[in-house]
Amino acid sequence: MPLRHRQIMAWPMPKPLVQIEARLPPSSGVLLTKLQRDIAACRLCSSLTPWRQFESNAYGTTSTGYVLVGEAPGYKSLVKRRRFTGPAGMVIRRALQQLAHPRYRDLEDLFYLTDVVKCHPAAALQSTANRAPRRAEIHSCADHLLQEIHLLQPSIILTFGKIAAEAVATVKPLSKVVAFPHPSPRNQLTIQKHYASRKAFEEAISATFGELIAQLEQRSFHA
Ligand code: SF4
Repeated sequence: MPLRHRQIMAWPMPKPLVQIEARLPPSSGVLLTKLQRDIAACRLCSSLTPWRQFESNAYGTTSTGYVLVGEAPGYKSLVKRRRFTGPAGMVIRRALQQLAHPRYRDLEDLFYLTDVVKCHPAAALQSTANRAPRRAEIHSCADHLLQEIHLLQPSIILTFGKIAAEAVATVKPLSKVVAFPHPSPRNQLTIQKHYASRKAFEEAISATFGELIAQLEQRSFHA
């Protein structure tokens, strides 16, 4: 279920981020960098050759304690070298941009961005098209997600799609998990099951982002 919906009319001036930037212990930061290098070098899934992935600068921020988990890199996002910039990802990005917060303009400002499967699952007949990750690929990459969450110790994890929600549940994080359906057309029926309209779905994402930002502002205020 989404967090409580919240109407945000105007944002106060952002405070300095000194306190929350120091959130991740230096040792975890080093281990996270090593993990990202290991992921980049991983060749475990022969079904995912040529193992196309995002570069290490596409993971977003570790400073907020929020993690956003998708299914797998989409081809369009890989070409743009930014996660969540295919048609479904742009729904998520627009939901944040609607808030027009002066600090959290993009997903990279608010979340550590990752996927259940780190390499692009290409459709059999067209290498530039996406397919859903296979069970074996999800299983092979599970340890990477487990390690990311273990190192980050996020307060909240947002998942998009059934695969991401199931994978995070397997990891059994101590974090609060907020699960949304995947915003792609193939999940239209799932979206309709939970939300009155596509617009209501997008507003729920936007409201959740607003709530997460409000929590950060509060944390910064009390620090
Ligand atoms: S999907 Fe994960 S486990 Fe498979 S090759 Fe890519 S990084 Fe390795």
